[in-house]
Amino acid sequence: MLMTDSHCHFDFAAFESDRAQHWQRAQAVGVHRLVIPGIEEAQWPALPRLCADHQGLYYALGLHPWWLAKASTDWQATLGEALSTADERCVAVGEFGLDRSLTLAPEVQEAALIAQLKLAMEYQLPVILHSQGTHDRMLKWLRRYPVKGGVVHGFSGSRQQAETFWKLGLHIGVGGTITYPRANKTRQAIAALPVDALVLETDAPDMPLCGFQGQPNHPAQLPRVLTALAELRQQDEDVLATQLEKNVNQLFGWSFVKGERQ
Ligand SMILES: [Zn+2]
Repeated sequence: MLMTDSHCHFDFAAFESDRAQHWQRAQAVGVHRLVIPGIEEAQWPALPRLCADHQGLYYALGLHPWWLAKASTDWQATLGEALSTADERCVAVGEFGLDRSLTLAPEVQEAALIAQLKLAMEYQLPVILHSQGTHDRMLKWLRRYPVKGGVVHGFSGSRQQAETFWKLGLHIGVGGTITYPRANKTRQAIAALPVDALVLETDAPDMPLCGFQGQPNHPAQLPRVLTALAELRQQDEDVLATQLEKNVNQLFGWSFVKGERQ
C-alpha cells in the first residue's frame, strides 16, 4: 500500500539531524512521496537541493502568510524567477494564503495571495493553500483567479465550505485534525465529501495526531491518518489508499512526470 504525504515541512530544523532516518521510517510504512511546501524566500534555493538528495521528495515554492511581514520588498520577482528556473520536482505554488489569527492587515495578506494566484496561473501550476478562519474570503479570490487546481491544506471547516472548494477544483488536505473526536464539524465534512476530493497529509512537524500531543509530528504517522479516514468513511483501507494515490497524482500532475511510478 503506497501513500503520499502531500504536505510535510521536511526542511524544518526539527528534521535537521535525522532527516534521512525519518525518510527511511516513512518509506518503510508505505510513504513513497512527500511534498515540501515553500514558506519563505531564504528556503527557496535550498529546496531543489534537498529534494535531489532523496528519492520521492518534491517541493513547492511560495510565501506563507506567517512569513509575509519579514519578506523583502521584491519577493514577488524573486518567486517568479525561482518558478521560471525550477526543476521537475517543483509541483506547485505554495504554501500561501490567508490567516485570521495574524495581526497583519487583511489587504496586505490578500495582495500576497493574489500575486501568488497569478503566478500559479502564469506557470500553470496547482496551488497549496493555507486558509485559517478565512474560507469565505479565499473562495471569493479563487472565483476571480481560476487557478489550475490545488489543495486547501489541513482543512478544517464545514461541509458546505469543503464542497465549494471542491467545486472550484481544489482538493481537500486531510491530516491529523480528523483523529480528534472534538473536531466534529470537520470530521462530518470529510466523511461526506466525494472520495476523489481528498488527499492525505501530516503537516509535520506540526499537527500532532490525537494521542501524540506535545510530540513533533513526522511523516511515518501518515498511515494513522489513512486508518482514521477509512474508519470515518467506513471504507476499506486498501481501496481508499489506491483512490487517494489517484487523487494526488491528478492534483500534482504526476502522471505526466517522466519516469514516475504509477
Ligand atoms: Zn504547512
